[in-house]
Amino acid sequence: MVSAYEEAVLQIKNQIDIIDIISEEVVLKKKGKTYWGLCPFHGEKTPSFSVTPERGIFKCFGCGVGGDAITFLMKLHNWDYVQTIKYLSERYNIPLPEFKSDGGKQKEERALMLEACKKAVQFYQDVLLTSPQDNIAVKYLAARDITPAVISRYSLGLALKEPNELYKRLKREYDDSILVDAGLIIKSSQGNYIDRFRNRIIIPIQSENGDYIAFGARAIEDGQNPKYLNSSDSKIYNKSRILYGLYTAKESIKQEDSVVIMEGYFDVISAQSHGISNAVASCGTSLTLEHVKMLSKYTRSRKIYLSFDTDKAGQNATKRGGELIKTAFQGLGNIKQFDESHVASNDDKYSCEIRVVAPPEGKDPDEYIRSSGADAFKAYVANAPLLLDFQLNELLKKKSEVNTPQEKSDLVKEIIPILNEVQNPIIQSEYVKIVSSALNVDESALAAQVQTSMAEDFNVPSEIYSNVTKSSSIVEIAQKNLLSLHFINRGDLNFASGLSEKIKSVNFTNKTLIIVKDTIDKLINTVNNVSELTDMLYVEFADDISVQGLITDLICISDSFSGLNEDELNIVVQENILKIDACEREEERKQLKQIYEDVNDDETEALKIQMQLRDKLNKLRTGEVK
Ligand SMILES: [Zn+2]
Repeated sequence: MVSAYEEAVLQIKNQIDIIDIISEEVVLKKKGKTYWGLCPFHGEKTPSFSVTPERGIFKCFGCGVGGDAITFLMKLHNWDYVQTIKYLSERYNIPLPEFKSDGGKQKEERALMLEACKKAVQFYQDVLLTSPQDNIAVKYLAARDITPAVISRYSLGLALKEPNELYKRLKREYDDSILVDAGLIIKSSQGNYIDRFRNRIIIPIQSENGDYIAFGARAIEDGQNPKYLNSSDSKIYNKSRILYGLYTAKESIKQEDSVVIMEGYFDVISAQSHGISNAVASCGTSLTLEHVKMLSKYTRSRKIYLSFDTDKAGQNATKRGGELIKTAFQGLGNIKQFDESHVASNDDKYSCEIRVVAPPEGKDPDEYIRSSGADAFKAYVANAPLLLDFQLNELLKKKSEVNTPQEKSDLVKEIIPILNEVQNPIIQSEYVKIVSSALNVDESALAAQVQTSMAEDFNVPSEIYSNVTKSSSIVEIAQKNLLSLHFINRGDLNFASGLSEKIKSVNFTNKTLIIVKDTIDKLINTVNNVSELTDMLYVEFADDISVQGLITDLICISDSFSGLNEDELNIVVQENILKIDACEREEERKQLKQIYEDVNDDETEALKIQMQLRDKLNKLRTGEVK
């Protein structure tokens, strides 16, 4: 009955974690059983996009789109069903029957690039491991406390000075174009191919899944420029979506529900190998929104530590990173701004929590861990101030440099936007107190300035549910209510399987509703429970996004009847059938009236049918005629 292809699709659907798939694109926040986020399919500032993992569905109450994880991917990437299934089968490693790689050239190219990178990693590592102890790179790594175990865990390697050692090794196996695209070789000014990385320590970069996709390469000699040479973006590498160390950190990020973002490869290697295993860094680029969104997949409460260098550039990176994180999670609620004890709940309370790890010695994390030890660094992480406190402190530190009233006023101007962000008015007034006494300015004057600038920033939040009610007619709503009862009680089909009989008198009027109803009737005897029913329905209508949207609607509606017992459900059935009947009668009456009015101009004709109509109308009113 079910084809081998459909069998594989159902197997894939079993593997899918819809939260996992969607949170790669949308930052989700949990409220009860549902996750909320900003809809990727229409612009909005307050979340009306919901995901219900229990049901495996998403639904946007703003623009109305909905479906399962497959629908989401189809809409997001503009893929057709087959493309989407192919992607998922690769992602979950579930082979598809009669899988033909038609548009497969690109895939093959990617696979070859990945393979070439993997071989390059091995090549560079062999060179490093067989280099003599007095080799400058070996000495450099040893000075950084990088042991052979660390070298092997992070697959560190060495590119020699010779121009084309790697190329000589790989050119027999791969076309030049593959090696160029993978960023392993470049054309020299003489027109021949040479290795891209020479005389450098090689730091391979892994994707979230562990594939080697790019390289960072550190200069070995003083004065060798640039200090870090990085792979450019390619078909397998997009640096704004890749975080160094994520592959080795992701389990810890999940476990600790927090992540430490650092600046450099060696910060991460040092941190992770000293037990700060939830550390990652961007790869030779500044942090992006995509990076931040990606992390929220692993830390559900979005607790992010920024641990950048303590120099000026690092401070700017902290400021920028903070802004970026706030932007990524805006709309999910308030950012955590002060430490307080609160009643534990499963729902996360804040949109995010940003803390700053800044050891005072003015060293980057790697240097600090090596000089003061991992425990000292961990203590800084454990006591890291919230971003707001950190920023205020940094600004207040400047007070000793402030002499003239003008300078003081300039400093106040820098502080006000930070005070503005404090959402709780009592806490805000406490901060105003602290700042005014630290800078010796009038408290009420400062408070007034904060108020004025807040009023300027204020914008009115819109309501989540403002768009929920669509202009469906009463009949349609009642018909949908009836069909939705098929999806009641996830576990068993007791109610659903008897429903068809109970609603057989109803004439469904909407074409899509009829198709869905017929398909449910067809499927209901072949499935074991409601989840199988929904899975099969989505498979059945895989190519029709509007029908998928309707199915999602029905599932959402069914949730509003959950918890009712069988008697109560039967009442729901009766009430909706009565509503449909009443509407049908009303409709018929309107039509008859119209006919009556149309013929009214012709007096004899009117008289003829007047009696018939009056008779019929009376019967309709009293319900004698259906
Ligand atoms: Zn939407």
